[in-house]
Amino acid sequence: MPKLCIRDLELKGKRVFLRVDFNVPFRNGQITDDTRIHAALPTIQYALEHGAAAIVLASHFGRPKGKPDPQFSLSPVCEHLETLLGRKVTFASDCIGKPAAQAVKRAQEEGHGIVLLENLRFHEGESANDPQFASELAALADVYVDDAFGVTHRAHASVAAITKFLQPAAAGLELVDELRYLGKALEAPDRPFVVIVGGSKVSDKLGVIENLLHRSDRVLIGGAMAYTFLKARNMPVGRSLVEWDWLEPARSIMRYADGVGIRFELPTDHVVTTKIEAGAPSEVLRIGDTAIDNRIGVDIGPATVKIYGALITDAKTVVWNGPMGVFEIDQFSCGTTGVARAVAAVKGMTIIGGGDSVAAVKKAGVADRITHISVGGGASLDFLGGRRLPGVEALTDKA
Ligand code: AMP
Repeated sequence: MPKLCIRDLELKGKRVFLRVDFNVPFRNGQITDDTRIHAALPTIQYALEHGAAAIVLASHFGRPKGKPDPQFSLSPVCEHLETLLGRKVTFASDCIGKPAAQAVKRAQEEGHGIVLLENLRFHEGESANDPQFASELAALADVYVDDAFGVTHRAHASVAAITKFLQPAAAGLELVDELRYLGKALEAPDRPFVVIVGGSKVSDKLGVIENLLHRSDRVLIGGAMAYTFLKARNMPVGRSLVEWDWLEPARSIMRYADGVGIRFELPTDHVVTTKIEAGAPSEVLRIGDTAIDNRIGVDIGPATVKIYGALITDAKTVVWNGPMGVFEIDQFSCGTTGVARAVAAVKGMTIIGGGDSVAAVKKAGVADRITHISVGGGASLDFLGGRRLPGVEALTDKA
């Protein structure tokens, strides 16, 4: 855990550099999901209420390759933030140098005190964790707060090198929440502890499965990744997505689970189709049925939803990452929606991570019944997978 939280800082009259994650999905000039902006609001409000002279918001947005690129400007996010806060936000056309310093000064003079800096990744120094770039960012403020959990798995200048130049350095409210909930699941989960993993690839989530397997009581697998495990058990899988190089790791995980008596569940039925597109003919088959022929498995079936539901219902801790099928297409979304409802009904602590699982619980209309929705996809996978988070270490002695 970071040594300091924003609540430990004296903010009165101080300029606060607040690293946020405003890397929101954006299509046709519109923000399509503003969850990440909402996640930063409590920390912004906290700093305002505690008398900060200026709040300097900094974020990356997309992958602009280290130089300015108008399609990755944070300016539309600035407008949206003004609406959400009901308060003016000064936009700085660059995140360092004169434009940034002048914007901070202007926001203080005008009294609203909030600045959003242009995309950090318009400078190569951000991704390179360059000390010179970090020191220029640091010069804009008196204290540092990191509330961008989604970037803590990267050693980038605004989350890592900057704390060498700007102290005190503390975690924001969202970051503290993320570490508290995910940390509790890792270190002291109330039992039964059920882990649900879906999505496209075993290779992306093997670290999480391995790290959580021996801590959990039941692991439920869905999504395309189930087919690598099913193939490893010599089941017919048609043209379903199989990662051929991952059959042996998949076998070794299942052997381990068997050996220590952890329930490691694969689907017992599934929805198969000829084509992954809306309107394609589909049917439910039992796993193992050779009638799959050369079709593709795209969702867990109703029998599996029932079995998984029964294994979820008495859980005291649930961690879920990755959808159970191609949930973006309504016809193949029943498995994911069914699991979402089962998780929402759990009385214990429920944590959902990964952009797609979050979208899925929203689609199922149950997001407000989940204890904690993690906004950091890659970072939550790394944290749950037991990897170090440079952005968190930068807030501790390990920096
Ligand atoms: P991930 O980013 O690894 O969580 O994967 C999410 C993606 O996996 C979503 O876009 C789903 O459509 C996709 N997905 C889930 N199940 C399947 C499946 N059975 N076949 C193909 N894609 C799938």
